[in-house]
Amino acid sequence: MTVTTADVIVIGGGIAGIGAAARLASHGKVIVLEREAATGTHSTGRSAAVYIENYGNATLKALTAASAGVYESHELSDAPLLTPRGELSIAAEAELGLLESAQAEGKGLERLNAAQARALVPILREDQIAGALYEAGARDIDVDALLQGYLRLMRGGDGRVVTGAKITAITRGKAWRVETGDTAYEAPVIVNAAGAWADEVAGLAGVRTVGLIPMRRSAAILPAPDVEGFEHWPVVGSIHETWYCKPQSGKLLVSPADEEPVVPHDAFPDDMVLAEGLDRFERATTYPVKRVERSWAGLRSFVADRTPVVGFAPDAQGFFWLAGQGGYGIQTSPALAQLSADMIVGTKPAIAGNIIAALSPGRSGIGGDVPFG
Ligand SMILES: Cc1cc2nc3c(=O)[nH]c(=O)nc-3n(C[C@H](O)[C@H](O)[C@H](O)COP(=O)(O)OP(=O)(O)OC[C@H]3O[C@@H](n4cnc5c(N)ncnc54)[C@H](O)[C@@H]3O)c2cc1C
Repeated sequence: MTVTTADVIVIGGGIAGIGAAARLASHGKVIVLEREAATGTHSTGRSAAVYIENYGNATLKALTAASAGVYESHELSDAPLLTPRGELSIAAEAELGLLESAQAEGKGLERLNAAQARALVPILREDQIAGALYEAGARDIDVDALLQGYLRLMRGGDGRVVTGAKITAITRGKAWRVETGDTAYEAPVIVNAAGAWADEVAGLAGVRTVGLIPMRRSAAILPAPDVEGFEHWPVVGSIHETWYCKPQSGKLLVSPADEEPVVPHDAFPDDMVLAEGLDRFERATTYPVKRVERSWAGLRSFVADRTPVVGFAPDAQGFFWLAGQGGYGIQTSPALAQLSADMIVGTKPAIAGNIIAALSPGRSGIGGDVPFG
């Protein structure tokens, strides 16, 4: 068997693994092992590609804010990585409480009435809206440019990706050893950035799992509505996340905002879930759904407190977790990539200590067996 040594082995070539590898590659030799034939095949290539400052809990908001500098710089891409979009959450009478607490906890959110919401997105039915919140600063992310930018940065240092790497064993002697068929990779540090499969990878390495639950989320592409200027509509959805839609490459993306717990797999949409979601969208709008041009699904993987798991495993030296990014893994990836590299290299992180503690793999309330097979 051929043995290749490195300073860090990263498992997973999604935005998490590639981002961390890019930040590590200026410090030492980094090898990313990706099972698929290409990077970004799973969740990273299937997201809605939105950056929303007010999305998620306080830890996620802090990570999103800490990512802004990288997005706004030209370090990773000459073209802007973020472009204006806006985000509109609408609420029915019974959801006004939720709207008020979202506004109280958020920043830069404007309260709109039904007519103002409809002025932004003319297909909305005013009689379904008791109130709305608008985040003008929400933006679209160019995910491919972000991923390619990180790949370039990684290759500019001492980093490379091995695709088609099917891991057969992970063991630890003096260093970690990861076997993929007839090649073994050895390094003192291993980064578990395997997305929905992160608990499986931990299990293979004999490390305590974090109770990761992959949740399926689907999306459908519909023909563009016949409304002038629709490409400039904000992302719009119910405050309860029962559906959302956004203009996407000249079409309309509609998601049922489903969160179906599943085993890690190459996700595909469930026709019934999609149909029910499209029905909720139709009831909130005047857009008649006649044809779905294409659909897909991806996995958003969460642990119990819906906060990412980032840091060294308390029970296995040199095993670094970078998982559980849920529905926020693109927008928070710059901060998580830098934090991971800082923690691995031993540089003082710019992220506050209370945020790092909230991400810790050893925190209480997470962990245990995965409830599916
Ligand atoms: C429909 C949808 C909409 C979303 N919208 C947004 C959004 O608007 N904004 C946002 O910020 N986030 C969004 N997300 C979430 C975001 O996509 C994820 O949080 C993010 O992509 C996770 O990145 P990752 O690198 O951890 O996972 P992945 O991209 O899934 O990468 C993990 C990689 O690990 C590889 N792997 C797994 N096991 C092994 C193994 N044993 N050996 C080798 N390789 C392995 C896999 O093949 C995969 O390529 C959305 C997700 C979905 C599904």
